[in-house]
Amino acid sequence: MIGAIVGDIVGSRFEGSLFQQEPIELKNPVCDFTDDTVLTMAVAESLVRGHEPSDSYRRWWAKYPNRGYGACFSQWARNPEARANESTSNGGAMRVSPIAIMCTGQDQVIKICREYTKPTHNTAEALNGAEAIAVLTWFSMVKPDLSFLRTVATTDYYRLDQSIKDYEADQKFELRCNDTVPKAIAAVLEAKCFEDAMINAVKIGGDVDTIACMAGGMAENIWGIPPSLGDWAWDKLPMEMRGLMEDLYRVSGRKIVFDGIEKEQTLAKPSLLERFKSAIAG
Ligand SMILES: [Mg+2]
Repeated sequence: MIGAIVGDIVGSRFEGSLFQQEPIELKNPVCDFTDDTVLTMAVAESLVRGHEPSDSYRRWWAKYPNRGYGACFSQWARNPEARANESTSNGGAMRVSPIAIMCTGQDQVIKICREYTKPTHNTAEALNGAEAIAVLTWFSMVKPDLSFLRTVATTDYYRLDQSIKDYEADQKFELRCNDTVPKAIAAVLEAKCFEDAMINAVKIGGDVDTIACMAGGMAENIWGIPPSLGDWAWDKLPMEMRGLMEDLYRVSGRKIVFDGIEKEQTLAKPSLLERFKSAIAG
């Protein structure tokens, strides 16, 4: 989850921009958290404290308005009687990283992800996009192997027949899951480290904060987050968000089932989590 937040913050200043060439500066003073972070917090709080997902989305939206929400989401959030949104956008997929952390098996990830996506993104495309990110983020925790993750992604979700170079050559701003979720997955599969995944997301262009956010949740589990980048993003978050993340990671240490074998859940590179714990204590 922390990786997703780092991605949102890194990507914030590139949202809607195209054609970024290397060297790409990831840490810039104007970077800040956006709707992706706020609604990821809403999912985390709902999971940790047992709140109803829709209530949690609306409460966090009201608490942090003007963070770049989509117009349809804001309309839905404003009206407690609103019915589920028929949206194909990546707004459901961007906030699922806490689900991966809290779930003990793939089937549970899929079930919980549906419950958290449906209220605001009730289309086959959006449900599939959110599920793809949640499942791949979960698998990146239990089997952080890029060729395995590619197989899961191409077997169950997307063709992934375009590379970062292809995306760079054909840049556009698009919010749909069928466009942006494969881009986030490619950003990770073509990376060699966490920072690489972030740079790939920036080079893809368009909805960069959300692409980097979706990629960041997976990249964190595969490589860990470089402390300088993690600390920099951490300092930009309000105390209540830091405390919530600490709670989420603490309650998540449980048994998981993978390949029919029960094993200890290993996530949140311990050194990184310790740093964050001491930051909270301090
Ligand atoms: Mg955003």
